[in-house]
Amino acid sequence: MAIFRQRALNEAAMHKTSRFYEEKGPVSKYFGTNVLDLEKMRNYMSQQAYDAVQAAVRYGAKLDRSMSDEIAAGMKEWAIEMGATHYTHLFQPLTDSTAEKHEAFISVRDGNAFEKFNGSALVQQEPDASSFPTGGLRNTFEARGYSAWDPSSPVFVMDGTLCIPSVFVSYTGEALDTKVPDLKSMHALSEAAVKVVNLFDDSVAAVGVNLGIEQEYFLVDEALYNARPDLMLCGRTVIGHTSAKDQQLEDHYFGAIPSRVSSFMKDFESEAYKLGILLQTRHNEVAPNQFECAPLYCEATKAIDQNMMLMIIMQKVAEKHHLKVIFHEKPFDGVNGSGKHCNWSLVTDSGVNLLSPGKTPTKNLQFLSFYASVLRAVHRHHFLLMTSVATLSNSYRLGGGEAPPAVMSVFSGSTLYEVFRSIMNMADVKENVSSSLESIRIVNSIPEIFPDNTDRNRTSPFAFTGNRFEFRAVGSSQNVASSVYVLNSVVAESLNEFRAEVDKLEAMGEDRASAVMSVVRKFITESKDIMFEGNGYSKEWEAEAEARGLKAVKNVPEAYEVYHDARTIEMFDVLGVLAPNEVEARFEILNETYVKKLQIEARVMGDMCLNHVIPAAVKYQNILIENVKGVKDIFGEDFMTYCSSEVAALKKISMYINDVSSYVEALVEARKKANRIEDISERAKVYSHEVKDMMDKVRESADQLEMLIDDEMWPLPKYRELLFF
Ligand code: ADP
Ligand code: MG
Repeated sequence: MAIFRQRALNEAAMHKTSRFYEEKGPVSKYFGTNVLDLEKMRNYMSQQAYDAVQAAVRYGAKLDRSMSDEIAAGMKEWAIEMGATHYTHLFQPLTDSTAEKHEAFISVRDGNAFEKFNGSALVQQEPDASSFPTGGLRNTFEARGYSAWDPSSPVFVMDGTLCIPSVFVSYTGEALDTKVPDLKSMHALSEAAVKVVNLFDDSVAAVGVNLGIEQEYFLVDEALYNARPDLMLCGRTVIGHTSAKDQQLEDHYFGAIPSRVSSFMKDFESEAYKLGILLQTRHNEVAPNQFECAPLYCEATKAIDQNMMLMIIMQKVAEKHHLKVIFHEKPFDGVNGSGKHCNWSLVTDSGVNLLSPGKTPTKNLQFLSFYASVLRAVHRHHFLLMTSVATLSNSYRLGGGEAPPAVMSVFSGSTLYEVFRSIMNMADVKENVSSSLESIRIVNSIPEIFPDNTDRNRTSPFAFTGNRFEFRAVGSSQNVASSVYVLNSVVAESLNEFRAEVDKLEAMGEDRASAVMSVVRKFITESKDIMFEGNGYSKEWEAEAEARGLKAVKNVPEAYEVYHDARTIEMFDVLGVLAPNEVEARFEILNETYVKKLQIEARVMGDMCLNHVIPAAVKYQNILIENVKGVKDIFGEDFMTYCSSEVAALKKISMYINDVSSYVEALVEARKKANRIEDISERAKVYSHEVKDMMDKVRESADQLEMLIDDEMWPLPKYRELLFF
């Protein structure tokens, strides 16, 4: 095993010096070449067909069937020019990854081969849905699920295949993916936001969401990765002692990028550029071998699709470099985990960022209306929002003292915080002053708001960063759509209420500015408990949050109960984002996924202990036994003088071997007990306590053995080998 490890290290050393990326010239020359955008489409179809696509892309108009054949023909022509032989609908089932089923263009008629791709193949496909999670929405014997082209996201060619971004729905129309609720939430949010903007500017007809998604990841040498069953099967190490040196010296963050890594980065970046993904930053992250990249923000649906593509590209390119990309939120204990920060803002159809404070009092009033509505939304649904990032893998990261805590709060920065405080204080003055006079005074007294961009609080799960909110609790392996549709929905609900309350006050005779200011004040006052400017990692905050009534996500399956909360169900239903049975389906899928993933981890852990850890420990135990016997042969009764440390080690090793094997047995029992529970959410809860607790015990003893046994004999790559190039 030591030899194998050496080989892997040699391989790593070899790759360090090789250069893989091709020089491709200026990025602007090939940016977006593999994407069929509207501009290019013009050359591949008639004006009429082009207009139809454009209406579908820009305004979500339904595509006329008669047009779809011509559009498909145009796409096929372009794709073949780009070297494609196959096409696929690409959708995002409820597994946090993407799904694809490739079909060949090639067909034969009268003995002649030709490329075929018609309108119906473009618009709709029927992949067998029975193997995707459906949460009881559809019986497995009714295997039909439909994927349908989502024209709002452009088609592209990757690996010789024309990829058609699609939604995925059941035969009876229920959403089986993350994209459908996401598109619906954008719609609901747009409608609600327009109502509020129109209080200030009636020319706005639509409001969109902009997203900038920062992606964190780890890189590990492929050979070492392949020697770790846990990394291969679970994406994280389930055992492994921390390295003597990891991130203590803080020498990795923003440090020089290792050359092996930078050649990988350049390579995947150029693949991303071809797909029109505008990657802008790359840097080392806090943990050793942890990195980050971020594209320029863009319209949310596109940003989400591009992030999913980026993850695929990174994995593919890594293969060429004999690297593995690890997107798991907490692959290594004791060092920082990975997140996927979602920078979220609202923008009008004329390009105005609604979360950007304005220069005039009225503009600021508009800004405050939106800010107050977001605060109110995050406060009211703080637990739902936090639960939207709650997965097994992310639960190892959140609240770990280096990642956002598992309780929601909003960081505004000192400038804004002061503004809010003064607005709230005015509530007392109001009693004595005529309301409209007061409001004018308030409007005029709102200082020019220049929130300090550099006023950063890295410990907040939801921070305002000058012109956007940064949702930092989202996990690195997650499809962010599942958090974004929750965020969009809660904000939409709040904006609807904002407008309704202003309307009510206006109907009672208040002038608009005063009415708006009253509602801003009301919203801020009611949500003040969600605002927190201090250190989110501190113990004091944990206690204070609880005192403020902010619920932390301490246990994932228990948190999922929020999907049974009447407020959640009603909100999604009223907004038209998810029907009650769709929410229920998601609840089931989340629990099912949690159980399955933990089940795999527990089994892998058991196997590794029985097949790797214990055999190695027993071998070393025997060497020590032989050694002690030999010493005794030579020195007789006096032997302890000469081998007390071996005997002490032997005692410890024997004890830990015993512990590991009995805990593994108990772990199997805990799983069996949990598996007998019929109800999936109850089963998940038992897994989250009993199975997980036992896993902690197994790990503790196994990691002790790692420290006691001869390094030559340890059969698994260690943290210090995995974490450094
Ligand atoms: P940091 O790590 O300091 O937060 P990064 O540069 O890594 O900053 O990432 C910031 C992300 O936020 C980028 O993707 C950027 O495009 C995005 N962003 C910037 N402005 C906005 C905005 N108005 N709306 C949404 N995202 C934005
Ligand atoms: Mg960043």
